[in-house]
Amino acid sequence: MPRTIWILGDQLGPDNAALAGARKQDDVLFTVESPRHLGKLPYHQQRLVLLLSSARHYAEEKRKEGWKVDCHPLEEGATWELALAAHVKKHKPECILLAQPNNYDEQQAVEKLAKKFPIEILPTRQFLVPRADFIAWAKGKKSLLMETHYRRVRQEFGFLMQPDGQPVGDRWNFDEENRKTFRDWTKAARPRADVAPVEPGKITRDVIALVEKHFSGNPGKAADFWLPVERAGALRWLDDFIATRLAGFGPWEDLMVEDERLLFHSVISPTINLGLLTPRECIERAIAAYEKGMAPLASVEGFVRQIAGWREFINGVYWLKMPEYAEVNGLGAERPLPEFFYTGETDLNCLRQTIAQVRATGFNHHIQRLMVLGNFLLLAGIKPQEALRWFLEMYVDAHDWVMAANVLGMVLHADGGFMATKPYAAGSGYISRMSNYCAGCRYKPEIKTGPEACPFNYLYWDFYARHETRFAKNPRIGMALKTLAKKSPAERKAVADSAREFLQGIDG
Ligand SMILES: Cc1cc2nc3c(=O)[nH]c(=O)nc-3n(C[C@H](O)[C@H](O)[C@H](O)COP(=O)(O)OP(=O)(O)OC[C@H]3O[C@@H](n4cnc5c(N)ncnc54)[C@H](O)[C@@H]3O)c2cc1C
Ligand code: SF4
Repeated sequence: MPRTIWILGDQLGPDNAALAGARKQDDVLFTVESPRHLGKLPYHQQRLVLLLSSARHYAEEKRKEGWKVDCHPLEEGATWELALAAHVKKHKPECILLAQPNNYDEQQAVEKLAKKFPIEILPTRQFLVPRADFIAWAKGKKSLLMETHYRRVRQEFGFLMQPDGQPVGDRWNFDEENRKTFRDWTKAARPRADVAPVEPGKITRDVIALVEKHFSGNPGKAADFWLPVERAGALRWLDDFIATRLAGFGPWEDLMVEDERLLFHSVISPTINLGLLTPRECIERAIAAYEKGMAPLASVEGFVRQIAGWREFINGVYWLKMPEYAEVNGLGAERPLPEFFYTGETDLNCLRQTIAQVRATGFNHHIQRLMVLGNFLLLAGIKPQEALRWFLEMYVDAHDWVMAANVLGMVLHADGGFMATKPYAAGSGYISRMSNYCAGCRYKPEIKTGPEACPFNYLYWDFYARHETRFAKNPRIGMALKTLAKKSPAERKAVADSAREFLQGIDG
């Protein structure tokens, strides 16, 4: 009897656990483009193109390799359950094999379906660290340190390790070298720092038309789609990054420049999250580049840290803490998300530029997400679940597993500091040092309160004033609270008045 290999839309990798041991001549691959999943939120049109086109390319590739593939396209309108029922009736498989879904609600849905269908769920191979292993490591800890997890992963996999068990370069961390500012950028000879958009082929063009028809009201323009949709294309982008941008990745990691959307970032998140790239090959290719002298250690270590460290950590926290994590609101933030997050119509130039970019491309790099958007949402006290929803809707690389801990934990400190010892809160100083946004802004970064002042300045002090008692015992926040304590009553009042007035203005 045949077996069914169920491939979810973000499991398109070369190492899908359900495919290992499958037999081309007998078994059938099964995919569903469920409108219920694709329409759960008004997702960015380019995210939908990426998901649909990648899944269709994958099916096409498998057919060419000689597999039987049973696809249930979006146009059919079937849920997972309806499609499964039709598939089982036609193919009568002895079992349905599936790698663990990457997202909690999908895992729940599959477990429910497993009561009706002979589904067998296998441990996923899409991450370096198995879920159970991370949970065992985290067990009993009141808070988690990414750095400890990262060193553990490097040791276990031997990434950038010397034979004596010490890290290559005798340091685990090269952050000191990796903080070049906008002023440094103006003085630097600037090498190439962008990617050429991928020309859409027939499958992608058909998908663009489909998305335009079914999701016309969603943000973004499907026709401006720019990403690779096949493993071969994803590998080409990875290699292009390694050859032309990896060397600059470290020093310019935190930089933000108007009209320079990618700088030296890899833009592998859209494809690695669909399984088109494996974390191990991304890391190994970067390390090989270091060994060949193509990129300095500080850049390569920084890149390895993002994948072996942050990516694995974020995924681990998600599976450790779901489903309760989705509802956390440790700072009691209740303000609704301002409308301008959708329209981009705001006088704050850093936000205007960043939102315009995500509306156009479905992408911002990490520091734009963390220190512009995230910082604002944190300081303004926006309700975490509204912020999370916006991030999920707007980004081409968005998936619940990766957004939840990034937005709720890292950005909004809504998990009570479980995964970040202090909030990533900053006044205008950080943004004006790392970008050229302030030059084109109607606000002045050097003014602290009043109508001309940069809102990040008074919102920063207002945030700490609101949470003074809560953070009093946190040694990592001591400096900010000491400075706040030195402010005169008049200064504190000016901060509170400016913050109240500004926040009333965004409440609509
Ligand atoms: C508020 C917020 C929302 C985010 N949402 C997403 C998201 O939906 N999807 C997503 O993949 N990443 C998300 N990130 C993490 C990070 O911003 C993106 O992975 C990165 O910007 C993608 O661009 P890149 O591929 O050029 O990454 P690079 O800067 O080149 O880094 C290389 C890779 O490291 C991994 N990585 C780095 N940081 C993180 C992190 N914090 N969490 C998980 N992986 C990481 C990614 O796979 C990334 O592709 C978010 C971060 C924040 C602060
Ligand atoms: S002045 Fe303030 S609001 Fe304007 S761009 Fe700079 S940091 Fe952003």
